Amino acid sequence: MDRSENSLEDAVALLRSMIREACVNTGAADSGQEIRSVRVLQRYLDDAVRAGALDLQVFESAPGRASLIARVRGTDPDAPALGLLGHLDVVPADPDGWQRDPFGGELVDGEIWGRGAVDMLYLTASFAVILREVALAPERPRGDLVLLAVADEEAGGEYGVKWLLREHASAVRVTELLSESGGQRMGAHVAVGVAEKGSASRRLTLSGVPGHASIPYGATSAAYGIGEVLHRLREVAPAIQLGPLWSAFVGARVADPDLAERLLDPVRLDAALPELGRIAGYAHAVSRVTISPTVLRAGDAHNVIPAVGTIDLDIRTLPGTSDADVDELLRTMLGDLADRVEISPLRGWAATGSSTEEPLYGALERAIREVSGAPVVPIAAAGGSDARHFRELGIPSYGFGLLGPEWSYERYRDGVHGHDERIDVESIGLALGALRRIVAERVGARPAAG
Ligand SMILES: [Zn+2]
Repeated sequence: MDRSENSLEDAVALLRSMIREACVNTGAADSGQEIRSVRVLQRYLDDAVRAGALDLQVFESAPGRASLIARVRGTDPDAPALGLLGHLDVVPADPDGWQRDPFGGELVDGEIWGRGAVDMLYLTASFAVILREVALAPERPRGDLVLLAVADEEAGGEYGVKWLLREHASAVRVTELLSESGGQRMGAHVAVGVAEKGSASRRLTLSGVPGHASIPYGATSAAYGIGEVLHRLREVAPAIQLGPLWSAFVGARVADPDLAERLLDPVRLDAALPELGRIAGYAHAVSRVTISPTVLRAGDAHNVIPAVGTIDLDIRTLPGTSDADVDELLRTMLGDLADRVEISPLRGWAATGSSTEEPLYGALERAIREVSGAPVVPIAAAGGSDARHFRELGIPSYGFGLLGPEWSYERYRDGVHGHDERIDVESIGLALGALRRIVAERVGARPAAG
């Protein structure tokens, strides 16, 4: 059996083990318990550590909230230090909606089933396998190769990447990074994540005049205020903003030249969206700032007219959107209600992006083309991932992945956080093949002879 067959078997076994560890992150501080999957990786990497080829550290930000950092040291301190960032936590799964046990890690007809199979344990497993190959190779690489297998991505990284960057900055030092949310097919292209939208969530607090609910006359109910604001919110249409990533998306995904032309025209874009089918939601999201009311609160007693109400808004921004832009948009929406409503920030971070001119992007492009025969297309993600924390530090970071030809963007979205999440062994093999080439190019790693 040659090296790549062994590696594929290893990646599949690691993936199945990590699914079974069920590191479910509910957002509660004591959920996740990623220490269990850290132990799985630690056992797998043990021979490389014993051989002195790998520096491995486990950091615990809170009991059970562990992350593993493993570094193969390069010979040249000036060479790139490539980080492979994979999270260990997964979102919850309701077994009632699944055809198989979401935490069984079953391998059926060439597919591995389970929560996290796509998001993103197949990549975390592949990262560990390539790291071990490089560590056990007869020659040391030129640059560092670093596995960052982290806790708490699904809840924003407070117990994972954010904590590591704050408390153990030298341990996680890299100069460029690969992480998740790439590899889907966009038409004949393979997607590489280069950017993520930002967040500028707000709470609107409405004040009214309280009263006994048995005598509503003269009261100004915050409940009606919420209704009015929601009505106005529905009518808000933030300006369409189309950049080079939009043109790249349309060019890769839309074969019909007439439809493509309309999609590239901000005036005609929205009328054309329904023709995009199930990818319309993505197209809508990445072409503008979006606002979604999520949590509404007013009143706590059945018989009291509420004087105060709140609306939480999930707001996703584009590169260049400022806090002032967001507040101005909301004040315009509120119109004559503005003096009854206070706008306060809930959480936020700026949109981030990495240039496609970086050497790592070129390496991705070549590796993906060699392995899959397909060109790449840079895409923006509507949501966020841990990669943004590295982009914020100026470290070029890309959403990697390489899935089989049947993996449309829609199929990928269905898998991530949905029922019956599963990945095929073939895709894992493709990802390993591309990763091996990228690592060889960037840090000069020659894999162990088979
Ligand atoms: Zn993920």
